[in-house]
Amino acid sequence: MIEFRNVTKQYVKNNTTTTALHPINLTISKGDIFGVIGYSGAGKSTLIRLVNALETPTSGDVIIDGHALNDYSPKQLRDAKKRIGMIFQHFNLLESKTVAENIAIPLRLGHKQFSNQEIDAKVTELLEFVEIPDKKNAYPRELSGGQKQRVGIARALVNNPHILLCDEATSALDPQTTLAILDLLKKINREQGITIMMVTHQMEVVEYLCNRIAVMEKGHIVETGPTLEIFQNPQAPITRKFINTVIEEEIPLRVLANLEDDLPNHIYRFEFLGNSAHTPVINELMLQGKVTVNILFANMIEIDGSVIGGMFVQLKGNNDDIEEGIRFLEERGVRVTLSRLNAETIHHHQNQDHDQQPNQHGETIA
Ligand code: ADP
Repeated sequence: MIEFRNVTKQYVKNNTTTTALHPINLTISKGDIFGVIGYSGAGKSTLIRLVNALETPTSGDVIIDGHALNDYSPKQLRDAKKRIGMIFQHFNLLESKTVAENIAIPLRLGHKQFSNQEIDAKVTELLEFVEIPDKKNAYPRELSGGQKQRVGIARALVNNPHILLCDEATSALDPQTTLAILDLLKKINREQGITIMMVTHQMEVVEYLCNRIAVMEKGHIVETGPTLEIFQNPQAPITRKFINTVIEEEIPLRVLANLEDDLPNHIYRFEFLGNSAHTPVINELMLQGKVTVNILFANMIEIDGSVIGGMFVQLKGNNDDIEEGIRFLEERGVRVTLSRLNAETIHHHQNQDHDQQPNQHGETIA
């Protein structure tokens, strides 16, 4: 268990003081995959670096398994740090050493002496575990980003840690490689029971990986709880902003711009609550044959078996039939809300299109 109790951190540099952390109180339980999300400068790196004593608090206590790091003797602190692995955004591998040598560094630096045979056996086992068994004698420059992070992970695991700290560990990787590394982290948590603390500015990372989240802003934790609860019911504006990066609350204007109607009406957001995600409600509505259902855009994710997000749909037909259709959906557990983007906004957007150049993604921003 990792506990931050009234932890503050100030940096003093050239007579200016930066408060990186205001009093932080936070508990990370054993076995958690805990995500800390925030923009650059929020204090995430400072927070995570306190756990393995790369930074020391200005005040307050970081407590690991009931022991405050402050109270440790230098030797006790060294031993405690050994049981905490860490991986980094830019991997931090030594370019002049092979993969096997990089992984063995913590063993060779430790006080305990290991034979070459013991080291070789451990390295081989770890390379199998991180799924690059054939890269033992390669040099970092010969590896892809994902492979380098796998080496970083193997090195972090070499002392059998009980905690793994990840500082923006996937930020330098493409989306597909990111997923593969996140799957590996899940395997480490599941099979070795290692508690993981991950700091990131990528919401899709915490959504995919973490069972609990803390949201940081300007040195404060503004919100914390189980991932599903935070996604279902975000409180702080910054949390909504982060969630918006993975699930849009509104229909993207670029989708509306492609609609055939001049001024489309009756655009709704459907959210599938409870069981409704697993029943063919839309199909049933269509089969009734009274309204036409034009699915415009869907953006849904699944967390712990619950579907979060929604589908944007245009309903066409006479008003009574549309109202009846909406009642039918609501009875089946679909939350139906009218899109805030009404004809006026769309009209405004269409006019702006004539004045603005699209950006590199082909989108125009109204
Ligand atoms: P994040 O990881 O969320 O980007 P950091 O913990 O790196 O945030 O930084 C939080 C604040 O502390 C920032 O204002 C940053 O400039 C400052 N800071 C971080 N490290 C140092 C340092 N070694 N010396 C001085 N200021 C620092």
